[in-house]
Amino acid sequence: MSTWHEYIQRNASIPEWPYPINYGKVNEVVTDVLVIGGGVAGCQAAINAAKKGVKVAIAERGHAKRSGSGGAGVDHWHGAVTNPCSKVTPEMYTRACYDSMQGYTGGHVRYIITKESWDTLLDCEQMGIQIRDVNDEFKGADFRDEETKLMFAYDYENKHIIRVWGYDIKPKLYEEAKRVGVNIYNRMMVTSLLTEGGNQGARVVGATGVDTHTGEFYVFRSKATVIATGGAGRLSVFAPEITASGTMADMNSAGVGQAIGWNAGAEFVCTEASGPGGLVGFGYAPYSTANASNTYHGTPIVDADGKEVPWIDVFGRELKTVEDRFLPQEGQQFQLGIGIGISRTNQEFRLNDINPDLPERLRRGEFKLPLYADMTRLSEMERRCIWGMMVGNEGKTRIPIYDTYTKAGFDPDKDMMQAPVMPLEGYFNACYWAGGPNTPPTVRGMGGGGFLLDWDLKTNLEGLYAAAGGTIFGGGCHGESHTTGRYAGRHAAEYAKTAAEPVADSRQIEAEKTHSYSAVKQSKEGNGWKEINAAIARIMRDYCGRHKNELTLNLGLRLLNELKTTELASAYASNPHELGRLLECHALISVGELVIKASLERKASNSILDFHRLDYPEMDPPEWQKLLPIKQVDDKVEVRDLPLDFHLKPPYAPTYEENYQLHCGS
Ligand SMILES: Cc1cc2nc3c(=O)[nH]c(=O)nc-3n(C[C@H](O)[C@H](O)[C@H](O)COP(=O)(O)OP(=O)(O)OC[C@H]3O[C@@H](n4cnc5c(N)ncnc54)[C@H](O)[C@@H]3O)c2cc1C
Repeated sequence: MSTWHEYIQRNASIPEWPYPINYGKVNEVVTDVLVIGGGVAGCQAAINAAKKGVKVAIAERGHAKRSGSGGAGVDHWHGAVTNPCSKVTPEMYTRACYDSMQGYTGGHVRYIITKESWDTLLDCEQMGIQIRDVNDEFKGADFRDEETKLMFAYDYENKHIIRVWGYDIKPKLYEEAKRVGVNIYNRMMVTSLLTEGGNQGARVVGATGVDTHTGEFYVFRSKATVIATGGAGRLSVFAPEITASGTMADMNSAGVGQAIGWNAGAEFVCTEASGPGGLVGFGYAPYSTANASNTYHGTPIVDADGKEVPWIDVFGRELKTVEDRFLPQEGQQFQLGIGIGISRTNQEFRLNDINPDLPERLRRGEFKLPLYADMTRLSEMERRCIWGMMVGNEGKTRIPIYDTYTKAGFDPDKDMMQAPVMPLEGYFNACYWAGGPNTPPTVRGMGGGGFLLDWDLKTNLEGLYAAAGGTIFGGGCHGESHTTGRYAGRHAAEYAKTAAEPVADSRQIEAEKTHSYSAVKQSKEGNGWKEINAAIARIMRDYCGRHKNELTLNLGLRLLNELKTTELASAYASNPHELGRLLECHALISVGELVIKASLERKASNSILDFHRLDYPEMDPPEWQKLLPIKQVDDKVEVRDLPLDFHLKPPYAPTYEENYQLHCGS
């Protein structure tokens, strides 16, 4: 017995499909703006486009009420530097990100985010999301501003990251989208972009999709399109359906937006960058074990004998008090948070942390495993804020962690929480639940690359915009995704107001329809999506892992192509759900090709991009300090050189603010 389908057919039966199936039935939707992906970025794009008076549709893979990485909540919002308490300016914050990454992040996108992040959060407040301590639960706390009742995370001096009560942020966005008249197509697996004349590189005039309940085919015709489909976390993951709940991200993070953009001729940048893989299943449920990172920043960690592990500043100086952990230290401007798409932070901006020499100290016997989070050593305000307010609102934690632990009797006033016992290297980073050392080094995640956008957050293709964290070059986290969505939605709507009617190419639609249903017509002996998904992950791990050379990359490309033309071409889907997952495998292969082709073009190793070419071992040669935008023209790769600070060079103005004022619109 070789496939999942064979096993099921011999040993079990699949439950009857609960929806009527109408494979091949075509539905047409005509709209001014189409938003692909209804996560937080997509909902914001749709809401803000609709507010401009145009007709808007969202095509969403899951259900927009709770879908996406932000669907289950959020507890802290980054980049809100224009809030009334902040001591950081958009210029300072943008420079901190750009300089930390030595130019390998979209400075213009960062600037747009910092200019509008606070306004976007105020919009959320208008929708009913609590962003202030309105009930005075934390009156007098040193992380709270008494006048505005705003509460801050990480850096209590500079106050640019805001703690929010975001467990219901997604349902509120969803309601708002409906209120302003957005048409939402849930369970829609978007499969391709439609272009004028069916030509690669031409204006984008819509998209195709398959309803994963009914199997029906959808043709969306739109004057403007916004891609907001999130990241591609599944690219090197064997069994994503198990692991998605285990660590950060979303099962639907299959890189479909990047794949359809790549196939339509959109330009990408830095897709050769990668980092240790996240969605890998070797970790623990997010925020479920002792740790001192992110939501738990500042939490005291003690060893089995109750001895506390020291916190240090970025210069290695031991911090004397718990309060110091939340303050920039001498020699620093301000502290950036983590998880904002900045893989390396300059000392001036880095957070205080548990001493990273902890693995060595454990080895020497200075501390004894297991380790514990001892929140009793925090002030009462801080303890209640981390365990109650933040864990109660963070994504994926309200029910599985906060409720479950509380009902089981966990009380942070007197109990400690244990950290995983793991290889000692894992204690290098205070995010102990992520399971770092358990993850094979071959498992990589994309490292900040994505669509190359201009100051309007438009791609190189007419009519195509993009937003979000994982989709674009220069994106970040939750707040960044909302904010870029809001901005891209506005611009897409403005474009749509004067754009010509979208005329789709019937041959392109027909070809996509044939492709979309191929899997339901194959033999039941064919592989299912799980086998194909695992094979893609295998190829990406082996041939495009941390270390690569021209030969491994070319072998990887060959194997992806063979997989596409053999096992994937004959793979079988027994219902619309499996069909959706198989169509995602096509997307994953396209993203894999994009990553490998970009990797072939950078003939130099690069430390910021965590990019290691064994055949070009010299690290960071000066002549390779540049971006290499890549796109397909007539299915052939085209690459050009672009300076890192292209966004401040002609045709753009020389300063961030001038460009913002020229492009932000109203
Ligand atoms: C557990 C957890 C906790 C987090 N906590 C925080 C936090 O406290 N602060 C913070 O700043 N960030 C946090 N983040 C990160 C933050 O949630 C993400 O950066 C943010 O949600 C990204 O938003 P997005 O809209 O770009 O992508 P997503 O939220 O991933 O949305 C993408 C959407 O596109 C849809 N889609 C995908 N493919 C298709 C397709 N083919 N057709 C149609 N639709 C498609 C998906 O279903 C999804 O709804 C957290 C993430 C997780 C997982």
